Amino acid sequence: MPIDPTLPYDANNIFAKILRGEIPSNKVYEDEWAYAFEDINPQAEVHTLVIPKGEYVSWDDFSTKASDAEIGGFVRAVGTVARAKGLVEPGYRLLANIGVHGGQEVPHLHVHIFGGQPLGRMIA
Ligand code: 5GP
Repeated sequence: MPIDPTLPYDANNIFAKILRGEIPSNKVYEDEWAYAFEDINPQAEVHTLVIPKGEYVSWDDFSTKASDAEIGGFVRAVGTVARAKGLVEPGYRLLANIGVHGGQEVPHLHVHIFGGQPLGRMIA
């Protein structure tokens, strides 16, 4: 079910538990600002998720409340993961779902990195 983006951060959401190491994940990258891991239900040859370490519900929440250092660190981490995966050529796609119309299901900001194949139209 898509989340209600107006709700406060839920420290028991699944990605918070992954960040705390309470449930396993297939780690791809980690630094001070971000953690990246493979999506459990991949929608492309490459489907990696990057999440900020701070408690932010969505891109809206993050872009409103996060510090410049957090935003810079997170954006750089997304690029680092995509480069490490060898996706820059021939290209890849980033996606962040926000709220009900966005179809966001997990209430901790995550950027999807899709790649490894032609990705087709932007919206099916
Ligand atoms: P959203 O629809 O919120 O943008 O995407 C949530 C994503 O999280 C989905 O692609 C889903 O497969 C992934 N996901 C949900 N639960 C887990 C989990 O426990 N582990 C991992 N690795 N991915 C998850």
